[in-house]
Amino acid sequence: MTIDFSKYAVSGITKLSPYQPGKPIDELAREFGLNPSEIVKLASNENPLGPSSKALAAIEKELKDLTRYPDGNGFELKKTLSEKLGVSTKQITLGNGSSDILEFIVKTFVNPGEEVIVSQHAFAIYGLVTQMQNGKTVQVPAKNWGHDLQAMVDAVTEKTKIIFVTNPNNPTGTYNTKAQLDAFLSQVPSHIIVLLDEAYFEYVDKPDYPNGIDYLKAYPNLVVTRTFSKAYGLASLRVGYGVSSEQLADLMNRVRPPFNVDSLALAAAVACLKDENYVRQSKELNDQGMSQLEAGFDQLNVNWIPSVGNFICFEIPNRAMDIFQGLLARGVIVRPVANYEMPNFLRVSIGTQQENQRFLLELKDLLAG
Ligand SMILES: *Cc1c(COP(=O)(O)O)cnc(C)c1O
Repeated sequence: MTIDFSKYAVSGITKLSPYQPGKPIDELAREFGLNPSEIVKLASNENPLGPSSKALAAIEKELKDLTRYPDGNGFELKKTLSEKLGVSTKQITLGNGSSDILEFIVKTFVNPGEEVIVSQHAFAIYGLVTQMQNGKTVQVPAKNWGHDLQAMVDAVTEKTKIIFVTNPNNPTGTYNTKAQLDAFLSQVPSHIIVLLDEAYFEYVDKPDYPNGIDYLKAYPNLVVTRTFSKAYGLASLRVGYGVSSEQLADLMNRVRPPFNVDSLALAAAVACLKDENYVRQSKELNDQGMSQLEAGFDQLNVNWIPSVGNFICFEIPNRAMDIFQGLLARGVIVRPVANYEMPNFLRVSIGTQQENQRFLLELKDLLAG
């Protein structure tokens, strides 16, 4: 006899559709009979530089202690972060990737039927974790592909619990200015949590781009999240963090699984934080690659959305999926963004000079064909 277990599952879970990650290199190699070494993956905003040698050395040192549980409080990492950011260690919550923190905040605050406000074209995880809790995601239309913060405040109701702001946003690469964030935070009722997702913080150098940490003193309802997955080049190790008032950190730490960040990730993250050279190099490589892609798109008469992240969306009217498939068959993985209500766009992550060039050449060839 077969049993339909979905009837017995928690209702929020059955309505969930899983997050669609970028296609892994090995999977494409299997499907198309390609050699993995010929494949260029520009689909998940990963760091093309390879890991920091300091992180690798820290991991190696840690290996002999793999039989031990990691430090559940992440003492060293919190201490290093607190010194770097000028906050107390009690304000920090460590996550298995910063996605963990997004889940903690929703688990901590959202009862079934309560509302979470997100922007159109914003990162998909917010809606997923809200659905898991049987919360209601309220999506506010974007303005010029970016967050319309005023419209997001205007969408607040008595059921609103959390507002997610992604700065800069993935996948559009847009950002909100200091003036916009100031005006927004000053209007959000003080009992509503604002989660400011700064996954790409290290890549941005616009003078009017706000640093979320600067707002924590004035706003005890604010949580700023950052990650080691992007500019720090540790996506596979899964480590990120939230910084907030001590009370919010204390509440989130109650839902945090006890050993959610492993010892290799903790050690590598500490080493990376002390390796400023690596982050600078990542940023330089990204700036050069961004210019290369922008110029390449212009040459091909392909529209693109100006981005301050390590990725860029480009427009392929009516044939985005064809071009995506065509690139795949040629060993270049980019990311469709139809599930972000952008069916005529693809997102490409900034790679090395050679990877970007390979992508542009294959794109040119496909567009001509
Ligand atoms: C990549 C990304 C994250 C972080 O992912 P983790 O690997 O879980 O730290 C968070 N938010 C956005 C918008 C991202 O693009």
